[in-house]
Amino acid sequence: MSVQRRHPDPRSGLVLDTHDLHRQAGSMREVRERVEAPDDLGNKVIGVPAGAPIDLDLRLEAVVEGVLVTGEATAEAVGQCGRCLEPIAVEMAIDVQELFLYPGNDADDEEASRLEGELLDLEPLIRDEVLVELPFMPLCREDCAGLCAECGVDLNENPDHGHGAAIDPRWTELAGWDEKSSGNN
Ligand SMILES: [Zn+2]
Ligand SMILES: [Zn+2]
Repeated sequence: MSVQRRHPDPRSGLVLDTHDLHRQAGSMREVRERVEAPDDLGNKVIGVPAGAPIDLDLRLEAVVEGVLVTGEATAEAVGQCGRCLEPIAVEMAIDVQELFLYPGNDADDEEASRLEGELLDLEPLIRDEVLVELPFMPLCREDCAGLCAECGVDLNENPDHGHGAAIDPRWTELAGWDEKSSGNN
């Protein structure tokens, strides 16, 4: 899952054009924009949906070696609680601080971000940060009681429930019971 070099798509909101900085050290521009999230921004259980808003609040500054990008990207990741399956949303604030080298800069850092022509692509950077920040086991709250292991009732709502309660249909999906135990009712 390394950051692959790819051609920036100028239509992507996360690809920024720097031509107005004229490669002139010291020139700068603020970027305050709402853009659309790309596909697959997250892990299997939680992520920023494709097309959901990402708010950029960035400063682009031309320096001698390239363009320095600093600021923040904010977005909302959505998923399900890993214990009770309730939908949850997590506000994400991604710090951006990255130097994009000008093409032809012969710095020997293979990992360095680079401009392609006058375009810089924030997507690989943002993708990595989102993956690092998102929990693999998101919870609706620290002490979520989860579902009853016997019948799947939400124990947050029914801490003392007795059996005979209807089986929560989401639990049958989770446990893969739909095939094995439903039989003929
Ligand atoms: Zn929960
Ligand atoms: Zn139960």
